[in-house]
Amino acid sequence: MFTSVIIPAAGAGERMGGAVSKQFLSLHGKPIIVHTLERFQMCAAIDEILIAIQPSGREQMELLVKEFHLSKVSRIVDGGRRRQDSVSNALVHVRAETEIVLVHDAVRPFIHQKAILASIEKARTHSAAVVAVRVKDTVKIGNQEGQFERTLDRSVLWAAQTPQAFAKDLLRQAYEKADREEIEATDDSSLVELLHVRPAIVEGSFENIKITTPDDLDFASVLARRFHD
Ligand code: C5P
Repeated sequence: MFTSVIIPAAGAGERMGGAVSKQFLSLHGKPIIVHTLERFQMCAAIDEILIAIQPSGREQMELLVKEFHLSKVSRIVDGGRRRQDSVSNALVHVRAETEIVLVHDAVRPFIHQKAILASIEKARTHSAAVVAVRVKDTVKIGNQEGQFERTLDRSVLWAAQTPQAFAKDLLRQAYEKADREEIEATDDSSLVELLHVRPAIVEGSFENIKITTPDDLDFASVLARRFHD
């Protein structure tokens, strides 16, 4: 079954500070995005990789694809203003024979093969699957006055990560609806949920962090040593 993965990598990285987009920052000797792409390059169940990047980063990305022999990269598309625009730009270019599409953040380099494979399997049987971890902290709803309104039941709460995997037609429908109805979302599965589909949960790992702030980069260096040594 032909399977494509979209890697949105067009974020401005404002929370990281500095001029270099966060996915190009070096981690354990190579750019973060190369670590991420290698996880999918080495996965036998993945057939093609599409990357969404800001136009200013395209040349650098093309060089990295050559240097690290990332032969599954089939397309590099321009990213959009929001993450969902970047995913949408790539989604129109997945191969015609693709049945399953994964979306995975460029800045999550510690994804395990087991989680990638489990998300593909679950997407085959359930149409949609999300790698997630149980929430460890107690989560509360705050208000504008700096007070808490209420506390959520932790036993049913999960923190959604990526990859998120979908039947291609379902994901396309979800993106078309979002476009038509001007719906904004920070992940792909929330758009699919609006079509009354309940994505399957794939329990992932706390190592699968999203490198967002300088603190995350320090932590990522520690994880990278453990992950690769
Ligand atoms: O901004 P956020 O932390 O949700 O970013 C998650 C991923 O989405 C990152 O890999 C980032 O590069 C990507 N992104 C994108 N286009 C945007 C914003 C974020 O591809 N406009």
